[in-house]
Amino acid sequence: MPVSDVGAFRPPRTRRRRGPEAGIWIDAVGEATPVVRGRRLALLRITATIGVLGSAFVLAACGSGGTQEAPDRRVVATTGILGDVVGQVVGDEASLEILIPNGTDPHEYRTSAQQVAAILTADLVFANGLSLEEGLIDVLAEAEAEGVRVIRLGDSLDPLANPVTNAPDPHVWLDPIRMADGVRLVAAELGSQWPDGDWSSRAARYASELEQVHLEIVDTLSPIPLERRKLVTNHDALRYFADRYGFEIVGTVIPGTSGLSDPSSADLSALVATIRSEDVPAIFTESTESSALARELADEFSGGVAVVELHTGSLGEPGSGADTLSGLLLSDAQLIAEALT
Ligand SMILES: [Zn+2]
Repeated sequence: MPVSDVGAFRPPRTRRRRGPEAGIWIDAVGEATPVVRGRRLALLRITATIGVLGSAFVLAACGSGGTQEAPDRRVVATTGILGDVVGQVVGDEASLEILIPNGTDPHEYRTSAQQVAAILTADLVFANGLSLEEGLIDVLAEAEAEGVRVIRLGDSLDPLANPVTNAPDPHVWLDPIRMADGVRLVAAELGSQWPDGDWSSRAARYASELEQVHLEIVDTLSPIPLERRKLVTNHDALRYFADRYGFEIVGTVIPGTSGLSDPSSADLSALVATIRSEDVPAIFTESTESSALARELADEFSGGVAVVELHTGSLGEPGSGADTLSGLLLSDAQLIAEALT
């Protein structure tokens, strides 16, 4: 189909990868677990005692061969990105369990019964909040009702509202300055729970690292001219990044902030028109979602539009350069700079 024929553009049949099918999900260790939609907590309470015995609490920083026993302080972080942040502050002074495996879309993740047991028996749970972890909302509320301290960091980090839906945008980790504030909040919460810990000095070091990452990103992006600072992304994940570094989100392949909606034929036709009128050279996809739809759109431009995969919702594999929040932010900035200059 010629590019000019955008009015006739039809959604390709290739769908992005869907999350777990109703009825079954695969947990962090590849174990299939039945899902009952809605409140599963009666079942979960029964399994809690059993599950916690096999719970995968690990030392955040286990220095020598894993022989050290985990301290009797249980901290849970929902995403791998939050796990990196919280782990930097926790050091080896508490055990830390990370719920959502790397490579998994946090919007769609459902916990296993064993992980719910870990939440219900934790001392502190750090979540992103702002409706990122949609599959955890009931479980976290239940944990709070049972006395577990749940901290939804995003709530305290000056959240942005999506300009279309007016709903809070959950993707706050893609702004290192907000996350530096988040690191200090993590230390304050840990200090309030366990005043004898050395949380604040580790937090100060890591917050300083994130502030340095911010300066490096500014430097990396500086060659991009103002008129090229336009982003088309897979779903609406980069708004905090765009706000911090002076970019405009001119379109998304998937509508909405959660990535859980499907674009209509009219949405896709409008996006093709926008890419052409704004002269956008790249569509930024993400490691947790299929790039198939973005590639179909880029094909409309006969090679004139690149498809560039970023890490947005999850850390990358070890050695990828995006396996920490700092690395993720720096590598995304580098890829954006290369695509837009
Ligand atoms: Zn997202």
